[in-house]
Amino acid sequence: MSKKGLNTRCIHDGELHDEKYKGAVSPIYLSTAYDYLEVEDNKYPRYFNTPNQLALSKKIASLENCEKGLVFGSGIAAIFASMFSFLKSGDHVVFQSSLYGGTINLIVKEFEKFNIEYTFVESLEIIDYINEIKSNTKIIYVETPSNPLLEVIDLQGVADLAKQHKLISIIDNTFASPINQNPSDFGIDIVVHSATKYLSGHSDILAGAIASSKSIIDQIIDSSVNYGGNLSELTVWLLERSIKTLKLRVDAQNNNALKIANFLHKNKNISAVHYPGLSSHPQHELSKKQMKGFGGMLSFVLKNEEKANDFTRLLKLIKPAMSLGGVESTITSPALTSHAKITQQQRNKFGISDGMLRFSVGIEDYNDLENDLVQAFEKL
Ligand SMILES: *Cc1c(COP(=O)(O)O)cnc(C)c1O
Repeated sequence: MSKKGLNTRCIHDGELHDEKYKGAVSPIYLSTAYDYLEVEDNKYPRYFNTPNQLALSKKIASLENCEKGLVFGSGIAAIFASMFSFLKSGDHVVFQSSLYGGTINLIVKEFEKFNIEYTFVESLEIIDYINEIKSNTKIIYVETPSNPLLEVIDLQGVADLAKQHKLISIIDNTFASPINQNPSDFGIDIVVHSATKYLSGHSDILAGAIASSKSIIDQIIDSSVNYGGNLSELTVWLLERSIKTLKLRVDAQNNNALKIANFLHKNKNISAVHYPGLSSHPQHELSKKQMKGFGGMLSFVLKNEEKANDFTRLLKLIKPAMSLGGVESTITSPALTSHAKITQQQRNKFGISDGMLRFSVGIEDYNDLENDLVQAFEKL
């Protein structure tokens, strides 16, 4: 495993060397047809083994302190593969309830078709997860910090529970990014990312990634060649380019988000701010223990719940947009976007109100962001 600093690893780990022309960046190999005679393994993009895919996978594995990585065409493709490569009819999965809306949709719409049971646990206490483990439980799946409430669960506790009960532990590490949190350091088996977010960082790439041990990744590849879902070589190359600045971007986002969380916390128009970096956050101490930075994501609730859309329209710099993790600051209503596919009743159960706004803090100069919020609050 590389011992170099994170910026160096973001830039150089896994890079391909241009032996022929000595260019400074990875060459791109677009072939879908490769010689099969003089080679060990037959190369084909859908097998996840082309040069650019392997190079990017190495970079992601290095950033997550894992043996091996894998890159997919979307975050959901990575999430699907991380579970379905190991599940069969009759199995059971324990889920944290506060997951990304698209993941919840995948579970409630697809699992039943394959006769796979599941339980959502509406708690962050490890004991409540242990209580849901059955003889057919195969996987425990968590997301921390979670979307959009920024809830934090004890990674060490989840990993220990999984080892004790011989389960596979999976975490969606999208919100933290590999810069702020490395779940494998705590013994979590599989780390998944929507690379569409921080890894891409410029709101122009749809991709997913998995990092884990060699044996687990090899098993996921075995199944995933049947599912399809690899990322195209051109996008793989773009994603490698994006990740070179991952640490610079995320550090700037961490700094801006902490300042904005403190600013909103003191604001009289706001009834709640959810950010793990605030000492008022219920899992602030745990966050300090398992995170290297508190991230660029936060959410807050307007006292005047009906004004969420009006407030968003008044912002001039901060864009209303559905995705997150880009260099530009974006704001979104979880009730209208990420959690729109679940019912109002489910949203209420998960604590997602209509007045909640989720803020993906970018790398703009802090004063410009604060000024934008101030002028919008004044006009509201
Ligand atoms: C966006 C997102 C996903 C889904 O990823 P896609 O790239 O949109 O398929 C999964 N988990 C989290 C936390 C996300 O933010």
